[in-house]
Amino acid sequence: FNAVWSNVEMGPPDAILGVTEAFKKDTSPKKMNLGVGAYRDDAGKPYVLPSVKKAEDAIIQAGLDKEYAGIIGVPDFYNAAIKLALGADSPVIKEKLNVTTQAISGTGALRVGANFFNTWYTKSKNFWLPTPSWGNHTPILKHAGLKVSSYRYYDPNTCGFDFKGAIEDIKKIPEGDVILLHACAHNPTGVDPKPEQWKELSQVIKERKLFPYFDMAYQGFASGSTDTDAFAVRTFIKDGHQIALSQSFSKNMGLYGERVGAFSIICSSAEEAERVMSQVKIIIRPLYSNPPVHGARIAAKILNTPELNAQWLKEVKGMADRIITMRQRLQDGLKREGSSRNWQHITDQIGMFCFTGLKPDQVEKLTKEFSIYLTKDGRISVAGVSSNNVDYLAHAIHQVTK
Ligand code: PLP
Repeated sequence: FNAVWSNVEMGPPDAILGVTEAFKKDTSPKKMNLGVGAYRDDAGKPYVLPSVKKAEDAIIQAGLDKEYAGIIGVPDFYNAAIKLALGADSPVIKEKLNVTTQAISGTGALRVGANFFNTWYTKSKNFWLPTPSWGNHTPILKHAGLKVSSYRYYDPNTCGFDFKGAIEDIKKIPEGDVILLHACAHNPTGVDPKPEQWKELSQVIKERKLFPYFDMAYQGFASGSTDTDAFAVRTFIKDGHQIALSQSFSKNMGLYGERVGAFSIICSSAEEAERVMSQVKIIIRPLYSNPPVHGARIAAKILNTPELNAQWLKEVKGMADRIITMRQRLQDGLKREGSSRNWQHITDQIGMFCFTGLKPDQVEKLTKEFSIYLTKDGRISVAGVSSNNVDYLAHAIHQVTK
């Protein structure tokens, strides 16, 4: 063969998946993988929700065919998805103002949205991301031809939300630009605005005439309640913003590999929504033609069957509560170890991740000396912490920070 690809340079490994690779090679029995963003049960094992198993059984029993879904996917799924986000009695849904399509999970929803904005949003091509943001946001937006800027969000001094800095920066964003907001359980920091702060953000974003684009990858997973976690999205809608919204069912239903998500845009009239929907379809058709059906059928079954839905909500709460308990135990463990540092942020932060405030050299020590694997920014996935290893983690963190 000819070396047609001799010009292709070796690219860097993915920052998060690289952590897992290194973890796999470690032979220590005490090793911990706190890099991966997937839920684990208290025995450290992947968790298939019992409600998901039930829904899957029912789907198999029903003997459905394997025909293509339409371009925008399984209607029972995408209609239920937007109801989950906005609330079943949302006037937006009643008046048919939402354009909602199934998407290839949260990532695919962001990508369809990015393509739509690049093609049809004429006011600006500039998206503003919080600092820091999920590592895939910038590549997704740039691949779709958009520009990316950033506004202050995380305060390293308090390991909390830099509300003042965020407001100052947002006030300077040019009119018409798009601001990306994590609806809840901000990744990677676990730091969310408080309800009052969301209300103020909504007002400032309105005054500045910015376009709010919500990424909602953790609805229910943060607080244990899908309604509580939808506060920001619903507040913005109540305040009259026409938002865009990406939803993922990876975390709250544990459907990671099934790739279940949705993308929505809120329009000003049903007629406008029809036009927008026609163009969303034109964007999706050459990208992947139509989405996979299996995971969407599972999510639809859970969302549309009252008993299963009630069971699922309990299971989501169970996952959220286990994480909240591990945060508390880690904080208690650090105190017991005699740490004089302030670890309040461990329990103030919310969702799957904790931004510990550990510096790169401390992270390196944790890995080298204690076989604890995490990303260099000091983020730990609390989902990877369990009753069996939380005390070991507290001990190790104290050793590298004292
Ligand atoms: N957005 C955020 C903030 C995330 O943290 C994630 C997953 O980690 C996603 C979107 C998309 O995830 P997926 O494509 O697996 O649904």
